[in-house]
Order: sequence, then structure tokens, then C-alpha cells
Amino acid sequence: RQGWASDSSDSVISSGSDSDSNLYKVILLGEHGVGKTSLARIFGGVEDCPDAEEAGNTYDRSIIVDGEEASLVVFDIWEQDDSQWLQNHCMKMGDAYIIVYSVTDKVSFEKASELRIQLRRARQTEDIPIILVGNKSDLVRSREVSVDEGRACAVVFDCKFIETSAALHHNVKDLFEGIIRQIRLRKDSKED
Ligand code: GDP
Repeated sequence: RQGWASDSSDSVISSGSDSDSNLYKVILLGEHGVGKTSLARIFGGVEDCPDAEEAGNTYDRSIIVDGEEASLVVFDIWEQDDSQWLQNHCMKMGDAYIIVYSVTDKVSFEKASELRIQLRRARQTEDIPIILVGNKSDLVRSREVSVDEGRACAVVFDCKFIETSAALHHNVKDLFEGIIRQIRLRKDSKED
């Protein structure tokens, strides 16, 4: 499985425990077709399952990052239905966000900016970890958004940036490890 730090996809999230301090909810946002489900399924270790078209899933898994275990629940529910309620709920419930666009689709890049603004509005006073993701980096010839544009956008948005290719599994592991590091950084600075 692509060299994840630990292979514990069957991890059971400890029930009955009050301490959810190492269980993080991560929400995938982004326009239709940018690769949210593909990224989530790689994370969940189920990308080859036949019901891949199905939208609206959650994937949980424990991984070891920097020697410490963390459990992530990745929510791929943004497009589950068009209800305003669900989208509002998504904006409220996450410990961290992954905003995805496709480097082959300028409109999805512009949409990513809108989502960032929406998120800022919903969580005004909070410093939430966000990673902006330019997916489909393998599609070199149909690229519409340069790496520099992506990076510049992340600077404006005050978030991290990474380009991935779900098709080639490139940088997918780094993405999810990165989000855990971002969450920890904020948690540690709060505790200080
Ligand atoms: P979602 O609507 O954001 O969940 O997007 P999906 O994960 O369903 O992906 C939409 C389409 O793009 C599917 O046909 C995927 O196989 C394809 N796709 C997703 N990620 C990549 C990628 O990194 N590279 C390429 N070439 N295709 C991708």
C-alpha cells in the first residue's frame, strides 16, 4: 500500500473514550470532478473497489506521522446532495480542510478561492488548518493552472499548498501526513 508509515487501515477508533484528541475530522472540498473521491479512496486504501463512482463517503484510518499515531476521518460528502444544510454543516464540523482543484481546470481553481472565502466566513475567529491541493498533475498537456499560480493563491489564503496526482499516487501520502502536521502545529501552539 504505497509505503504508508503504518498499515493499519483496519484501525478501530477507540470507542468509549472521552479523549478524541488524536481523532481528526478532515473535510474534502472542491468542484465536481477534481479528484476528491480518488484522493479519499487512496487514503482509505480502497481505490480499486468497484463502487468507486458512489459519492458521499467517509474513510477512517490511523497513520503514524513523526513517530506518533493519529486517526483521521476523511469526509468526502461535499457533493452528497445539494442541500445548503449539508454544506453549512461541512463548513462547521471539520478540524481541517483539504480544498481541491484540478490543474487542468481553471474554473475549479477559481471555485477553490470561493470555498476558502466561504470557510473563512463560517469559521471567522478560528485558525483552521487548510491545504490547497492542485490535483491531476500528471495531465501535463492539459494543464491550465501553473504551480506558481497555485502557490501564490495559497499565500493569499494563508494555507499550505501541494500538487498531487491521484492517478499516479503522487504526493497523496504527503498530503494526508501534511494535514496531520498542520493540525498538530496549531494544537501545540494552543497548549503552550
Ligand atoms: P470528485 O468529483 O472530485 O470526487 O472527482 P473523482 O475522484 O470522482 O474524479 C473525477 C475523474 O477524474 C475520475 O474519472 C478520476 O479517475 C479522474 N482523476 C482523479 N484524479 C486524477 C488524477 O490525479 N489524474 C488523472 N489523470 N485523473 C484523475
